[in-house]
Amino acid sequence: MTQTAVKVRGLTKRYREVRAVDGIDLTIAEGEVFAILGPNGAGKSTTVEILEGYRRRDAGEVSVLGVDPAHPTRQWRDRIGIVLQTANDTAELTVRETVRHFAGYYPTAGDPDEVIARVGLTEQAGKRIRQLSGGQRRRVDVALGIVGRPRLLFLDEPTTGFDPEARRRFWELIEDLARDGTTIVLTTHYLDEAEALANRVAVIAQGRIVAEGRPATLGGRASAKATVSWLEGGERRRVETGAPTETIVELSGRLGGEIPELTVTRPSLEDVYMNLIAEVPR
Ligand code: ADP
Ligand code: MG
Repeated sequence: MTQTAVKVRGLTKRYREVRAVDGIDLTIAEGEVFAILGPNGAGKSTTVEILEGYRRRDAGEVSVLGVDPAHPTRQWRDRIGIVLQTANDTAELTVRETVRHFAGYYPTAGDPDEVIARVGLTEQAGKRIRQLSGGQRRRVDVALGIVGRPRLLFLDEPTTGFDPEARRRFWELIEDLARDGTTIVLTTHYLDEAEALANRVAVIAQGRIVAEGRPATLGGRASAKATVSWLEGGERRRVETGAPTETIVELSGRLGGEIPELTVTRPSLEDVYMNLIAEVPR
């Protein structure tokens, strides 16, 4: 039986007249990589910060590794890793000093140099934090999130400001942690990131979940019509169909075998996402 890592029912949070989180339900199993996707201001950080015990909720039930984060215990904190959207820097310390310092907070911390290697900062280990680029600083944040070897890791927009190579390396790190059994909850506004990493995705807009599921099937994506496109008589032809295989067999018969420049496409995660976001009334 799979254990539940996170369970949320009817979560709400207002800032004066703003309903930042407006009745969210979530269930995340242990070992899952779960992505919370949504535009700026959707309520991603507020939700995650409540789960982390960083922010008070107005209403709703929340259980994170069996504990209400509004009443955290020391033991519970030791099992949670946190990468906030905007982190506090220890600008004058070196990378190694910073990671060592934070390792001291945890009873079963990982080896600081190993953690530094894992986030790809071995060459920068002796540098002061203020000398690092934005992307490198972000990797320090991630190192501090994982140094306590958490069972559950929260990452709030971890790759904002990364170049494509750093993002790929970060993805590998997440896959690596997930293989070790770490449950991962990350927010992102990058669709490719959610698609590459997450077993499941919740799209939130205006404080509400507007869709939830596997990236491949989100918003009816898998059952959406396919577009079959090919070249015929020097012209590009296109049909939308619920039965692309049938269309291709028929085409192949008509065109005598190979179909020139054949492509079959379904809506991308981005197409689905844009539709979901557009449907939310303001
Ligand atoms: P996201 O992380 O998805 O960008 P946030 O959770 O940061 O969204 O914000 C959700 C809404 O709550 C936004 O309208 C934001 O302006 C508002 N908000 C967030 N934090 C505060 C705060 N400390 N005080 C007042 N309003 C806030
Ligand atoms: Mg945010």
